[in-house]
Amino acid sequence: MRYCDLACIRCGKALTPCGPDFASTPPGASTPPGDALIFMARGNYGSTIYDPQSEMEYLIVVICDPCVVAQAAGGNVMRVQKRVAPPPRQEPWTHTPYEEPE
Ligand SMILES: [Zn+2]
Repeated sequence: MRYCDLACIRCGKALTPCGPDFASTPPGASTPPGDALIFMARGNYGSTIYDPQSEMEYLIVVICDPCVVAQAAGGNVMRVQKRVAPPPRQEPWTHTPYEEPE
């Protein structure tokens, strides 16, 4: 099954690949749609339909770009930006003799 075999989960629109699939494309992957976003769900605690509790499987759905834009306008799309930890501080070291407390 390829990504573009899936229709938009919201409006049912058929999607088109943004390019050809290549012979080197690994099983389970394919060229992404040119007019939609791909969403992956690993399940979560609380779901009554899907919570495999395994990193080895997930569900994929696609939503066409116009549906995402319309839902974003309604406040139904969350953007998350992960922060990257700052690099550890590095500075020259100088030896200071240990002094016994008085
Ligand atoms: Zn749609």
